[in-house]
Order: sequence, then structure tokens, then C-alpha cells
Amino acid sequence: MLNHFLKPQKIFLHIPPAIWSQFQQALLESRQNNEEVIGFLFCKRHEVSSHQIRYEPKVWIVPTADCYEYQSVTGLVLKQQFHLHLLQTYIHQEKLDIVHIHTHPGQEIPFFSSIDDHHESEYARFLTTNFKTKPRLISGVFDQSFQNFKFRIWDKQGRSSSPVDFSSSWFENSITLFDKTKPMFTRQQVFGETFQKQLNQLTVTLIGCGGIGAIFAEILSRLGVKNWILIDPDRLEDVNLNRMPGATWEMVDEQMLKVEYVKHLIKKVYRNDGQVKAIPSVIENQLIQPEIATSDLIVVATDNHYSRQIAQELAIKFRRPLVCLGTHIDMKPNGMPRMYCRMTVPPLGGSWCLMCGNMINLQQAALESAAPEIGHLAQQRGYIAGVNDPAVFWLNSLCASTGVGVIQGIVGGFLKIDSGLDWIYEFPECKWHKTDTSYLVNSDCYFCGSKD
Ligand SMILES: [Zn+2]
Ligand SMILES: [Zn+2]
Repeated sequence: MLNHFLKPQKIFLHIPPAIWSQFQQALLESRQNNEEVIGFLFCKRHEVSSHQIRYEPKVWIVPTADCYEYQSVTGLVLKQQFHLHLLQTYIHQEKLDIVHIHTHPGQEIPFFSSIDDHHESEYARFLTTNFKTKPRLISGVFDQSFQNFKFRIWDKQGRSSSPVDFSSSWFENSITLFDKTKPMFTRQQVFGETFQKQLNQLTVTLIGCGGIGAIFAEILSRLGVKNWILIDPDRLEDVNLNRMPGATWEMVDEQMLKVEYVKHLIKKVYRNDGQVKAIPSVIENQLIQPEIATSDLIVVATDNHYSRQIAQELAIKFRRPLVCLGTHIDMKPNGMPRMYCRMTVPPLGGSWCLMCGNMINLQQAALESAAPEIGHLAQQRGYIAGVNDPAVFWLNSLCASTGVGVIQGIVGGFLKIDSGLDWIYEFPECKWHKTDTSYLVNSDCYFCGSKD
């Protein structure tokens, strides 16, 4: 209880950029002259932890002109029948909460007007008295060009409201502008203060602390990420020494956990700040899911299909961005090696995923998840490539570096990946292949299709 007082509950409304741009576009199109426009989002409430609530949009609605009783610069009234239909479908049947968004004229930071206060307070009370689920009302007001905004959530009695953190970017963290950028980042200050602060406040879940994951953590932590959740059940072995940065014989001798080893790499950069949680576990462990739900980004760098499948399922479940990294080496019959590295970032909020995009072989994933005896049998029959796939430091580094570059591009805003990204590098041909992600869109996918 005391903890509750010390750490007030923070409420986040995180709308994936692809959904937000559709919603915003529809709002702009519904504007006829210069009148206020209004839209609704119906959201699912997700209690991430005792002091963090996240609202995730399930449906958005922008009423067209014929849904209004009247629409003018002074106000808006929806037709009753239309309004009831919305409430019946999304609040009564689907048990969602409601987000009201409207605009005010002008370009300045908008404020809720006393008319807004009055209407919203009444509406919050109306929801509580008419629906058993006691849905909550969140309201947002934007200036006419959608640059500035304010969000708040009403209590059930409609008496008072508290602020809501709104984000329509890949990451939900809002930036605190208090502390100064550390001198260690001077050589990257060209990317801007906001960029550095956002990295500094990110929490990254890394699944797989092996040959790619370790390098990835080394590089991304030096770019500025200090908060990590590391997940890997394995220990360091002598066969890892060909590709793990800074790994030593001493670490191998003491059979150091890979998560502890990667924590050690990160802590070499951040002595006193940042939080690194080392979790020596497989990803399918249910107990670690709440940890993953609180992070801002999931990175999966394991060498098997099953763990990637689980990572993708969790990313969909918690609506977290996912970055998937992998390398592959094989030998042609003439003895020439072919080497690949691949980075995949499925779009936040659906439309395709690792499964429907065929980045994961589900049959292989099922075999990997089967009991060890069956797995062994499958391996004997050649269904699963042995665990000792070839791997080299330089190729893993290329993959991990580019993965970090992609994250820098997302945070810095100079890499537009609303529809996702899938890049493959081929060596020695020295070719980058970019998958045309519009071919990957799949609304029928069992995993990422439009279902709860
Ligand atoms: Zn208003
Ligand atoms: Zn899918």
C-alpha cells in the first residue's frame, strides 16, 4: 500500500503510428470548413503493473457528416441512434473503454475549455450509471494541425481528471528534459538531445544473449540504452569464444550465465545508473511475461524458430515493437560458403508478423518445442538442423550493428517503418535485399489478424 503512495499510477495511451495516421487522416477528411472535428477510439485497458496502466486501441471511429445532428465551429452533436450503436457495440458487448478526441481552432497548445469540462464530466457519469463495466472516459484535445495536444482520464463520478501520457510513436515513453546529456555522448550530439534522452529512457528486452544478442547489447548500450531485461537460460561455453565480445576463459571456466555476461558488458558502460535485469530462463516461462510487457522494445536474437514465435506472440499481445535478428551460413556443393544476415521489424499494431511473413517456419518451431526425445528423433531424421549451426563474429556483428542502426532510425525518426521492414544481406555477393512489405500484408493471419 505504501508503495502505491510513493509511486503514483501512470496512465499511457499508446497508439501505433500506422493506426494513428489513418485516424488522423480520417479526422482531417471529415473537416468541411474549419469546424472542430471529433473521433473515437475504443480501447482495451491493460494493467501492466501496479503503477502502470496502458490503453491499447482496438477500434477507431470518425463520424462522417451524416452522423451529426449538427456540426459547427461552436460544437457538435451526434445523432442519437449512431451514438447508441457505438456504445452498444464497443462498450456493452466488447467491454472497451472510450477515448474522445477533438480539435480546437488555432495552432497553440490547446486547453480543455469549461464547456469540455462540463460535457466530459457529465459523460463520465453517464457511462458509470449506464454500463455495468463502468467504462472510463479518456479525452484528448488537439490544435487544428494535430501538433499539440492534452490528454486526461476522468474518474468514475466525473468529478476530477488526471493526466494521461499519449504517444503515437513506436515507443510510449515521454521524455523528461531534466538531466543533461552525459559527456560520453558528445560525439553523437549531432543527432539531437531528444534522441539521446529517448534512448536513455528506453527499456529493451533482449531475448537471446548469444553470438548476435551480446554484440547487439554491446553496441546499443554504447549508443545510449541503459535499461535492459536480458533473457537466456544458457551458460558460456568454450565454443562461444569465437564470437562473444569480451568473453574470457575465466568466464567459461566458471560457467557464467550468458545473461550475467551481457549484464557485465552493459555495466562496463553504465556504472551507477540504468537497470539491468538478468533472467536466466527460457522465453516460454509465463512468469517473465509481466517484465516483457513493461519494456518498450523486444529484440529477439535466438537461433531457433520456436523462441522467435513466442517473442512475436508476446509482441502482439503486449503491442510492443519487435526487432528480429538472425544470420545464416551454408556451404554450396562446390565448397563455396553463402552467408546471410537478416533484420526484420514487423509493423506495430499488426498487418503482418514473423509467422505470416514466413520468417518463421511453424513446423520447425513445433518440432523445437516438442519434448527432447521427439526433438532428438526429428534431428536424426534431418528435420532440425543441429544446434551447432555455423556462426562467425564478423557476420553476427554486421547483423547486430544494422539492427542497432534500425533502432537509431526509428528513435531518430529518419527511418520510416510504419509498414514494417525486412532486410537481408548476402555475402560474398555484397547485396542488400529489401522485401517489399506490401506483399506481406495479411489480414487473415491466425497470430496478427484482427482478433483480441
Ligand atoms: Zn473542446
Ligand atoms: Zn501474422
